[in-house]
Amino acid sequence: MPGFELFGEEEKKEVQDVLDNGVLMRYGFDGVRNGHYKTSELEKNLATKMQVKHAQLVSSGTAALTVALACAGIGAGDEVIMPTFTFVASFEAILSVGAIPVLCDIDDTLTLAPKAVEKAISSKTKAIMPVHMCGSMADLNSLKKICDAHNLILIEDACQAIGGSYENKPLGSYGDMGCFSFDYVKTVTCGEGGAIITNSEIFADRAHKYQDHGHDHIGTDRGAETHPFLGYNYRISELSAAVGIAQLRKLDQIITLQKKNYTIIKEAMGVIEEVSYRKVPQNGIESYAFLSIFLPTEELAKKGHEALVAHGIDACFYWYTNNWHYYKKWEHLFEQKSLGKLSQEQQSGLLINNRSFKDSDQWMSRTISCLIKVSWSEQEVKERALKMTEALQSVFVGSI
Ligand SMILES: *Cc1c(COP(=O)(O)O)cnc(C)c1O
Repeated sequence: MPGFELFGEEEKKEVQDVLDNGVLMRYGFDGVRNGHYKTSELEKNLATKMQVKHAQLVSSGTAALTVALACAGIGAGDEVIMPTFTFVASFEAILSVGAIPVLCDIDDTLTLAPKAVEKAISSKTKAIMPVHMCGSMADLNSLKKICDAHNLILIEDACQAIGGSYENKPLGSYGDMGCFSFDYVKTVTCGEGGAIITNSEIFADRAHKYQDHGHDHIGTDRGAETHPFLGYNYRISELSAAVGIAQLRKLDQIITLQKKNYTIIKEAMGVIEEVSYRKVPQNGIESYAFLSIFLPTEELAKKGHEALVAHGIDACFYWYTNNWHYYKKWEHLFEQKSLGKLSQEQQSGLLINNRSFKDSDQWMSRTISCLIKVSWSEQEVKERALKMTEALQSVFVGSI
């Protein structure tokens, strides 16, 4: 997944353009920037690549989710449905706009289970936020139908799946808004950065204002601009955007390499009958950022993960016991350990999450996800694939 593996001359050249004129901010200073508007340029390129009308760059993926929620008019006491398996950024963004994250089970896609989503809907629900974890997507068709039936906004978190597609649409472009992260470990990196993509004029117009203190961006005098509504500062720096320009150009190459390496490993593992694979929804094409497998039981998955480590295989994750990506370790959320006082609505609304999610546990306790890198040589991938197969086979010896 990591674009940082491909940091090279192209990135340096784009950054040098910015350093040469010293204008590190996206807005203003028109006379001295030698025509370099790196953030605007990356927004244009991203919108084209993602086949949408608008892209808004921001400072992080978390900021992208926050801005998307704000643009959808979500605020105090509103409920947003999100999966039990995701990065903590999902609930952070929801909480930051005053809303209530409502956790919901996942299924064998490792993303939101549409049936569970339907059950989680209440009169306060305003949006559904599927997260395309580890390079593959939610059943967007079903989720869209649910959104249409209940008049809800669909916000795709495609932070881990840029380059994948669903029904021939780039991931992130299917819902009302899609969010990307360009942090340092994502497929495309800016160092730090994020983006919201949308075909909606209204959301796009709100987004550029909201992420810049409410500035209307009319005219050439920032100080004289008006502020039609309250905003914040989620701006990205020109230096970060410059890196992203070079990185985005490499996206197709990255996906091709990921697919190649993923396929070599998956084919090698094919000899292990006990291993099954994460379900990719119909008409979906993964970004191949990870290969996610299921082992028959929790115990075997734990052993399998240990065996991979023992065989010197890095970057394979057993998310079930991970502090950041699975609800079981989010006690700071369940115990409401907030630095400042949460609103009454959030305090009582959050209690709905203090329960177990057996369907999610059933899948996640058996899941191991292995990162696919792009810098491996073919020889290295083949050796890795053999070692991984050997490691996983070792846990089945004597268990049949
Ligand atoms: C990385 C990530 C984010 C947050 O992105 P940052 O740029 O690190 O703030 C949000 N959601 C998912 C699924 C992520 O993987």
